[in-house]
Amino acid sequence: MSTRILVIEDNAANLELARYLLEAGGYTVLTAEDGEEGLRSARRDRPDLVVSDLQMPVMDGFEFLAQFRADEELCSIPVIAVTAFSMPGDATKVMQAGFDGYLSKPIVPETFIEQVAAYLPPSLRTAPR
Ligand code: MN
Repeated sequence: MSTRILVIEDNAANLELARYLLEAGGYTVLTAEDGEEGLRSARRDRPDLVVSDLQMPVMDGFEFLAQFRADEELCSIPVIAVTAFSMPGDATKVMQAGFDGYLSKPIVPETFIEQVAAYLPPSLRTAPR
């Protein structure tokens, strides 16, 4: 079964770009448009890794992470934030919140898969192409 990555992003263009790139890299991609939908997807489908936007309607990335980490079935799954870092101190805030790492927007197609895969255990990474 192929490795599953859940992408949570309210911007449709960003979501489709992430999906396209990760699928091209050989991953199965699950998507959600806000944190609440992301939690439902994670509980149902148990992704191997989560890539989450921070600013989203309904439930933002920080609240999503807090609830995700409070769920003993999900808490050990790595979660990466993807953010535009528009405010000073954003990177510190992200790491203090307990994200496993972060990537800066805009997504760079040439390096995105590699950057995301770095957070997967080696056995779950697809072969480089
Ligand atoms: Mn957003």
